[in-house]
Amino acid sequence: MSVLKIEGLRASVGDREILQGVDLEVQSGETHAVMGPNGSGKSTLAHVLMGRPGYEVLGGSVTIDAVELLGLPVDERARAGLFLTFQYPIEVPGVPVVDALREALIAAGRSTADLIEHMAGEAGRLGFAPDLLLRPMNVDLSGGEKKRNETLQLALLHPRFAVLDELDSGLDVDALRQVAHRVEAARQESDPPLGVIAITHYRRLLDELPPDVVHVMSGGRIVRSGGPELATELEETGYAGYRPALDSEPTPLPGEGDSFLGKFSL
Ligand code: ADP
Ligand code: MG
Repeated sequence: MSVLKIEGLRASVGDREILQGVDLEVQSGETHAVMGPNGSGKSTLAHVLMGRPGYEVLGGSVTIDAVELLGLPVDERARAGLFLTFQYPIEVPGVPVVDALREALIAAGRSTADLIEHMAGEAGRLGFAPDLLLRPMNVDLSGGEKKRNETLQLALLHPRFAVLDELDSGLDVDALRQVAHRVEAARQESDPPLGVIAITHYRRLLDELPPDVVHVMSGGRIVRSGGPELATELEETGYAGYRPALDSEPTPLPGEGDSFLGKFSL
């Protein structure tokens, strides 16, 4: 069993402090939902955990089984067992999914025997057309296909902990069910069982991926935690009563979509 422990995490972008002391502890096999208004820092948390360049860590710690991740490059965080599915999956011209996964498995010292068969099996499970596996990563794919592709990578790489940044956005009901079931299967069947941080606005994902704990993020902090009933309450009340977002409206980020491939180095 493993533990992902986030303590007092503070981080800035430019001269703005976005994460203002985040505490969160996830054990293998647990699902923690992170909800909260737009601009409250949820994606920033995901990116800082994974080590995306451009964020300055001001304090705190992030460990998996007492190994400090902050300061490690992205590929070493991936090797330590962390995986991120992007809110906006990137397109990587010239790099087929199968090549990226093969390199990731080799970097992790894992077998690539029967990789094509495994990928085809996972594609079938996820309703992802197998010929897309040979095409350049995410190029010209629909939003739903990109999210299935992210989930397929998760399934094949067997991380210890996965951060799902709005895995449900852009998915129709059937696709939502398929990706959520695949993540839920990893949570139940992997050894150790997958621990999940599911960033979402909607309870419908959590109906398929039942959370042990629901957290509300606001103003760069976790301001409330509760059981699954908190997601229902939030759906009814919205985020009225919580601190407003750090900004009135989040703007598209410069560099969003930049190449960020470390996660394939597992
Ligand atoms: P959420 O995912 O909760 O909607 P984000 O983490 O994307 O929120 O954004 C939190 C705040 O940080 C927003 O005000 C956003 O504009 C700002 N922000 C995030 N990343 C950057 C960046 N790279 N450059 C400038 N501002 C950023
Ligand atoms: Mg976000």
